[in-house]
Amino acid sequence: PPLLDPAVVRPDFPVLAREVHGKPLVYLDSANTGQKPRAVIEAVDAYYSQYNANVARAVHALGEEATTAYEGARDTLAKFLGANSRDELVFTSGTTHAINLVAYSYALPRLQPGDSILVTTMEHHANIVPWQLVCERTGATLKVAPINEAGELLVERFVELLTPDVKLAAFTHVSNVLGTINPVRELAKACRERGIASLIDGSQAAPHLPLDVKSIGCDFYAVTGHKMAGPTGTGVLWARAEHLEAMPPFFGGGDMIRKVRFSGTVFADPPHKFEAGTPNIAGFIGLGAAAEYLSGLGMARIDATEHALLEYATDALKQVPGLRIFGEAAHKAAVISFLIDGVQSHDMATMLDLEGVAVRSGHHCAHPLMDFYGVPATARASMAFYNTREEIDRFVEALTKVRKLLA
Ligand code: PMP
Repeated sequence: PPLLDPAVVRPDFPVLAREVHGKPLVYLDSANTGQKPRAVIEAVDAYYSQYNANVARAVHALGEEATTAYEGARDTLAKFLGANSRDELVFTSGTTHAINLVAYSYALPRLQPGDSILVTTMEHHANIVPWQLVCERTGATLKVAPINEAGELLVERFVELLTPDVKLAAFTHVSNVLGTINPVRELAKACRERGIASLIDGSQAAPHLPLDVKSIGCDFYAVTGHKMAGPTGTGVLWARAEHLEAMPPFFGGGDMIRKVRFSGTVFADPPHKFEAGTPNIAGFIGLGAAAEYLSGLGMARIDATEHALLEYATDALKQVPGLRIFGEAAHKAAVISFLIDGVQSHDMATMLDLEGVAVRSGHHCAHPLMDFYGVPATARASMAFYNTREEIDRFVEALTKVRKLLA
């Protein structure tokens, strides 16, 4: 597909016009959280300024307008993810909430001593810690599928580890640290053939790749709204309808019931039985607008645009003496983790900030992955379709300056 023109898309993002420390902002931290287009900001504003009301409870005009917009967002997101039905989408506060929901409602009741959950070395803590918590409660254990130096999952090893004790395999679609794009269809198929449930952490995939959960063939797919141009505090758990039918609710409260008696409660149908209490209405209306915005640009075009940017940035960074890139997978999203010999990543990020360049430094919520590479932290530049080559040039220039000062 033809690449997106930054001159056309950048004006959609008001924050990109600002300056930081007197320099034009170069935002290279989209894997941390994505910037929001005006369409999203305006959708949130319109809800609060024109039809703020609670959803599903009121019969008055504002309540109906709010409910229509909120449930309309579910339709938009169902289409965005390639779901069979809107009822397969549970609104959550983010990926973290989505994975915990599966851990407690799906995995916990099924796990016994001797069972296992399989994860990979490259998981975010959000896809490790919930499993550890349910393992601790049930006597199950966590197994880990290894990666190679380039940051690619060893698929054969992953498949070998899918033994009958494994009740669920949880793996990321795209690594937030390395950018590695995992062969999720192949992995989900291997799980399915062995009757093992699969959960995919789609946090870093949803903003960048065309998605179709049906064709991936997994059981659960989690996304977080704020990384895909939407508001913070929003996320979606997509799950096969039969799982949502069978799973008990995680939270109890209003809006998730059909009938409450002190002798017992009849729950609402999915997805509502997992959505207790007043939700983040404005957030999900904004997330619907975000999905529409991204679809309007075209996910295949976004993917191609970012891939070109990744190649440009990788080539430029390789010219910086003493710079080591972590993650050189053959299939990679626009994320580059790196270190420069003799320079602390936090010092580097702080100095880059003075040049207006925003990158993240730290362990990226992936301690086991840092341990694998034997480093405490890395710096990470993560790009989106709204970044330009000129920004990459400014980043590399700033980095060269920082290196001279610190190395
Ligand atoms: N998984 C991955 C791969 C991520 O990058 C992140 C966010 N850094 C998360 C999970 C957690 O997302 P959230 O904090 O929005 O729930």
